[in-house]
Amino acid sequence: MGGAFGLGKGSYLAYTTRTILDVSGKIPGASGSFRHIGTIELEVMPWEFVQPLVDDSYRLTGNESPELVNALDVMRCHGMDSDEFNRAKLDYFGEKPLFMFQWHPYGRYDVSMGFFSPGVFLRLDVIDPAFGADVGYASSLHDDDDVSDVVNVKVSPFKPGMSELISKLFRVAPSPDADASLGYFAKNIRAVRIQYVGAGLCAGLYDDGDALMGFFDLGCIPGGVSAGLRDAAIRNRDAIIQLLRTSPGLTVVISHWHNDHVNLIHALHKIDSGAELFKNGILIVPDSDAPSKLKVQSYFKTTATIHTIAHSFPGGGTHVSANVVLGKVDAYDIAKNGMNRHPHHHGLYMHITHHPSKTYALLAGDCTYSGIQKPVLDDIQNGSRCWLQASHHGGDYALAPESQTDRRLKIPKCPTISKSSAIYSANGLTYGHPDSDVMIQHIGRGWGGACILYSRITYPTILDYHMKLY
Ligand SMILES: [Zn+2]
Repeated sequence: MGGAFGLGKGSYLAYTTRTILDVSGKIPGASGSFRHIGTIELEVMPWEFVQPLVDDSYRLTGNESPELVNALDVMRCHGMDSDEFNRAKLDYFGEKPLFMFQWHPYGRYDVSMGFFSPGVFLRLDVIDPAFGADVGYASSLHDDDDVSDVVNVKVSPFKPGMSELISKLFRVAPSPDADASLGYFAKNIRAVRIQYVGAGLCAGLYDDGDALMGFFDLGCIPGGVSAGLRDAAIRNRDAIIQLLRTSPGLTVVISHWHNDHVNLIHALHKIDSGAELFKNGILIVPDSDAPSKLKVQSYFKTTATIHTIAHSFPGGGTHVSANVVLGKVDAYDIAKNGMNRHPHHHGLYMHITHHPSKTYALLAGDCTYSGIQKPVLDDIQNGSRCWLQASHHGGDYALAPESQTDRRLKIPKCPTISKSSAIYSANGLTYGHPDSDVMIQHIGRGWGGACILYSRITYPTILDYHMKLY
């Protein structure tokens, strides 16, 4: 029980980041239940850190930290929605441990789909380690090499109202003025470099003199079908971390809050509080209730400008500046359908353009392609060359609501003059990516020159890929 990360006996706040169906898993319908769930990923924080702020019956013991006492005072004085409390809770939660937890509910749980939906807060009790019950294992947010002991857990929903209150607690007020912050960066960006990082994404963004300007996503899950690939992912990850430690003033876009897109930020913070990362930098992120988002905001609250792009259903929205279109996918109305907060339906993508040569790079993150705005799709189709960072690491992904009966992925069409490539990084083990059928569908849409960082199928593995847009 309890492992290297301190998930000892006790109660935890758990936030569902994603569910991964096993191979025989049923695709869930709009309602009803299913049993064949493979893995549920949770962000987990000890309940004792959250309870004083949401539970009226909680009584102070006098041993509370100054940060908690301050947060409580500020909340009572200014309210949970106030700017004052937004700052106070970043101070408080920023230093609290947050774990990744994977849970395998083998058959014992038969509850509604809402229970398992991404974006839902649950209560997780770690109980005595008698095997035969539901088990999970914890890993740190920043390094999947460390896996603690198996723990035995009981998971239950919070009382009605409590989950909404906790969502509100973890929410940080959106700042929708990303347009202005794209400025210099958007004017000068000319090249993208994608390095192999296993089932993750790190796309370095460079100017025409090869100076680093920023990143689109910072995540790495080494794993891998061979020791060589695993080592390559770790080597690239460590090199990127070193680069980030010595590069102030970067613009970093996070497509969504899954660990494989954001865990390098947690790793950096662990090493030296981020060192140069985001010193005078800009962080552009999608709105979310994820505790991981709140922690990332807390790391850089005094050094960087953080823009949270709010949900805007229907159709998402775009921020356009010089050579960059930054878009947000919004496939569900969050206000009306809080249970369907699948991060792939609310993520950011980036379209980088060089209009004189009609050369483009579309970085899709893990976004559903059907949520990408039409002008961007038209642009690449009419270009002379495009690089597509294939969504979800070349794997199958959650479809937008209108596509549930049509499993085709609505993959963008490749430009007809085809020196164009689809690129992704995947380790061949994690989350079912890449998926050969999905990559065949990409090829069917014209991405014939697919260059793939790792593939089960016929393409060579490349560990470092440069795209120059001029
Ligand atoms: Zn991903």
